[in-house]
Amino acid sequence: MSCNRRDFMRGGLGGAAAAAACATLGASPAEARENKKVPGNAIGLLYDSTLCIGCKACMSACKTTNELPLDDNVGGKLWDTPFELSGKTYTVIKVYQDGTSVNKDQVKDGFAHIKRQCLHCIDPSCVSVCPVKAMTKNPETGIVSYNADACIGCRYCVAACPFHVPQFQYDTPFPRIAKCQLCKEELAKGDIPACAKVCPTGATLFGSYNALSKEIERRKDMKPGEANVFPRRTVDSGDTYERAAAHYTEEVYGAKALGGTQVRYLAGVPFDKFDLPVGLPERSYASQSESMQEALYSGLTVPAAAFAGLMLAAYFGTKNLHDDEEG
Ligand code: SF4
Ligand code: SF4
Ligand code: SF4
Repeated sequence: MSCNRRDFMRGGLGGAAAAAACATLGASPAEARENKKVPGNAIGLLYDSTLCIGCKACMSACKTTNELPLDDNVGGKLWDTPFELSGKTYTVIKVYQDGTSVNKDQVKDGFAHIKRQCLHCIDPSCVSVCPVKAMTKNPETGIVSYNADACIGCRYCVAACPFHVPQFQYDTPFPRIAKCQLCKEELAKGDIPACAKVCPTGATLFGSYNALSKEIERRKDMKPGEANVFPRRTVDSGDTYERAAAHYTEEVYGAKALGGTQVRYLAGVPFDKFDLPVGLPERSYASQSESMQEALYSGLTVPAAAFAGLMLAAYFGTKNLHDDEEG
């Protein structure tokens, strides 16, 4: 993925500039805070691209459950045709294609699916930059939520998200930020996220972060071509889908980059083929930029005290002058 102006702001300001500013102000990046840890009762999703058949049932269920309008990009000829995440779309199934596009999960002459949605970062940039706490991360479950009532529409979260997820609803009279909130209303009712609930192959799977980690390890240990069973809906539902294991790439997307994410991906083709940002550092941008802010504010203590002194001097000077004039 090429580095455009938005990426420069995300990575450049969060990383190199943070380090430079810290150094200028005498706080080395080594003093910066650590990445945040996975919350105690973290939940999440595993999306396995090799199991995905591109049926888009997850997209449809997401729309219905979240009462989102259709996203028509082909002039009303087909039902719901989003090309990307948008103000009307929290999740979209996209595809990598090469040549004849006949070999599933192969780079050459192949194709592979990818599900785009909020990854519920462990140390999210969107939460870090929001000036009014409209974006928050639940300390227990780790769900990254959005509060439209608190939002002032600054769109800092849109600019800061390294994965290009939050979308501003430009075409509505009362715009808000659109993004997946892991179906938290469904969870509150004892249900599971709609996309995982309807996925026929278990390609989108819901569970605790730890259970999903074990499932990822299990899949990585499978021999490609061997018959296997894959859980559907939740890791421990008992409902399974049988299929031969595919070949997985080494990388688990979301395992480590920028502190990791609670929605993780497995795939058969390298993740750069999906136009996802790759090669990201393990250090979260939030940890770097917050350390920079701390350094800036502590660096401003002396000038602020001097400024306060000047204000007091000016006040008393003016007061004495007035007193002299009146006396
Ligand atoms: S993917 Fe973007 S919007 Fe979602 S939690 Fe991470 S930074 Fe926030
Ligand atoms: S968890 Fe819910 S809101 Fe998020 S992509 Fe799945 S269905 Fe949509
Ligand atoms: S419902 Fe499952 S199989 Fe169908 S497109 Fe979504 S993730 Fe893929």
